[in-house]
Amino acid sequence: MRIDPIELSRELISFNTINPPGNELRCIVHLQRILDGAGLETSLQTFAPDRANLIARTRNIGSKLPLCFTGHVDTVPLGNTPWSVDPFAGEIIHRKMYGRGSTDMKCGVAAVVAAIGNLAKELEGTSGAVLVITAGEEIGCEGAFHLARAGILGRAGAIVVAEPTSNAALVGHKGALWLRLTLKGITAHGSMPHLGVNAAYKAARVLTALETFQFNVAPHPYLGSPTLNVGTVHAGLNVNSVPDLAEIGIDIRSIPGLDHSRIQEHLKAELGDDISLEPTVDLGAVWTDPSSPWIKEVYQIVRDVTGEDAGPEPRTAPYFTDASALTPALGNPPTIILGPGEAAKAHQTDEYCSVQRICDATDIYSRLAARWSRTPE
Ligand SMILES: [Zn+2]
Repeated sequence: MRIDPIELSRELISFNTINPPGNELRCIVHLQRILDGAGLETSLQTFAPDRANLIARTRNIGSKLPLCFTGHVDTVPLGNTPWSVDPFAGEIIHRKMYGRGSTDMKCGVAAVVAAIGNLAKELEGTSGAVLVITAGEEIGCEGAFHLARAGILGRAGAIVVAEPTSNAALVGHKGALWLRLTLKGITAHGSMPHLGVNAAYKAARVLTALETFQFNVAPHPYLGSPTLNVGTVHAGLNVNSVPDLAEIGIDIRSIPGLDHSRIQEHLKAELGDDISLEPTVDLGAVWTDPSSPWIKEVYQIVRDVTGEDAGPEPRTAPYFTDASALTPALGNPPTIILGPGEAAKAHQTDEYCSVQRICDATDIYSRLAARWSRTPE
């Protein structure tokens, strides 16, 4: 039976996979059944109660490495503003499918599963395709890191990340290094501050240094310069005590070639020994040379399907993706970010994905997989 990407999008939206807590298992099992039925070899990796990733491969993979397609099934929460539609119904209004996770990125996952599921028989005996469907992407690519650490992915010849790009082919994104900075003091009664050491004052000095912190690296020609933002500052429990602990949360967006351990050493040297740094999210930048032959093929296929040209300058994504974990784990092959959702609608109230774009993405993925299977090593 043919897999309809629109129907499947609606089914995926009907699973509540808001992360936290995620609870992606039922949604993942649903996809496993469909891909099993289409003749792929599937395996499910549970990494927490009610949470699992799915790997599905077309059969009889040849000597050339397979083409990998990846997407996640968890979503962000609904937010405080009430929705004007049911966020789990996948209702279509004016050729747009509404629902939490439609754009980011259940419609992308549905397009991948329909494209490869419907092509599975033709891909048998070729290098074929491998699908990596993850859980827990929205909070630091948890599921993808679990797969990377487990060492069960094998290698891939190229990767398509079906995150929302309005079906444009993007060749990279910055990395993310989130750090928790901790400063210690000595507590005392608020009426006798001279008996304590105030961690809030230490934090204030660190904040001033962070505001003028320089990475001292040349900007990347397309991703620009790295950035640093102080997102959270906490010190003190009650107003009449000297705080003995201060915590600062910082969000660094890195560029290719700027090593995350080097950033941490640089920060320590700048901020002094009195501070401890602990990464809470550590995702490398992703970048593929747009002149690589496979990227040119992708541009051509996108043009054939959508009529839209890649444009004179290579484009990049503003967000990070599972590729930070999966691209190194799969042997650093060329990686493209290309999916039917609209990046501007991701995480928003009344999120939607264009029905036409879901159909186009399915067509693009089918052509990419067919072409990959026909091209010799
Ligand atoms: Zn996403």
